[in-house]
Amino acid sequence: MKKLFGLLGHPVGHSLSPLMHNQMFQLLDFDGYYHAFDVEPSQLEKAVEGARALQMQGFNVTIPHKVTIMDYLDMVDEEAQEIGAVNTVVMKDGQLFGSNTDGQGYLESLMDVVTTPFPTHDVLIIGAGGAARAIGMVLKREKVRSITIANRTLAKAKEFSEVLESSETSCSALSLKEAEQQLERFSVIINTTSVGMSPRVDDMPLYLERLSRETVVSDLIYNPLETKFLREAKQKGAKTVDGLGMFVNQGALAFELWTGLRPDREKMRRCVLEQLGG
Ligand code: NAP
Repeated sequence: MKKLFGLLGHPVGHSLSPLMHNQMFQLLDFDGYYHAFDVEPSQLEKAVEGARALQMQGFNVTIPHKVTIMDYLDMVDEEAQEIGAVNTVVMKDGQLFGSNTDGQGYLESLMDVVTTPFPTHDVLIIGAGGAARAIGMVLKREKVRSITIANRTLAKAKEFSEVLESSETSCSALSLKEAEQQLERFSVIINTTSVGMSPRVDDMPLYLERLSRETVVSDLIYNPLETKFLREAKQKGAKTVDGLGMFVNQGALAFELWTGLRPDREKMRRCVLEQLGG
């Protein structure tokens, strides 16, 4: 019998996860099927009950359920607890286990470009939402020298930077304007907001006048693949990292948790890229 996997989110119509996972099932000759389920927030608990009743083998969780899903699972691993959000759920012996592959997925995409040791880096994270939390936690684990959070709502940036502070990583919070004025002091800049995402492709989370050439600039957005933020950074001589690597890696890590198989990430990347028209 086919094993059922899926995505719980709202909305999910735009998701490329079904395409990516179903292609991998086919390529690896694994008898699975992945479906995107549009679940309204008020229906999440019932949807999880349904997943149990249908004996789903695992599922992904996306906006707006990554935090609330934790209330309906049997166990949440340490990293997901620390992040405060779950994006991957695995069914084992009738029990639902929550994990978070976003942070590790992002880190692996960053490591393609950042080749010097993490403790030598001063990182600016723009945004203080769920994705920022996942990334901040893995960068703290990697002992980067400093993490600065810049966010539209400064209070959230302050609260998050206090959580991140450790003996190895110094943390602080700035407004978006302040971050723009101090841009040259960061070696890695990561946009974790949705600013610049299609259809508002001319928006930028902040201006890059003071960007240093040596900086790595990264954007979690993958539609468009090259945001205006990345395009301008590249024009200024910076190295860039788009959001597709993170998307593929978080999916590949979830796939491994569900099936024990290692999917071909390059094939996953090409499958998504084709769909994006790249
Ligand atoms: P979230 O929890 O809702 O956080 C959104 C963040 O963006 C908040 O810090 C918010 O600031 C900021 N923001 C939103 N609109 C803004 C605007 N107009 N101006 C300035 N700041 C704005 O969302 P999330 O889950 O972290 O996701 C954020 C982005 O990452 C989305 O674009 C998502 O698609 C992307 N993402 C990509 C991947 C991938 O695999 N590539 C994975 C996860 C997420 P306030 O606090 O002021 O509201």
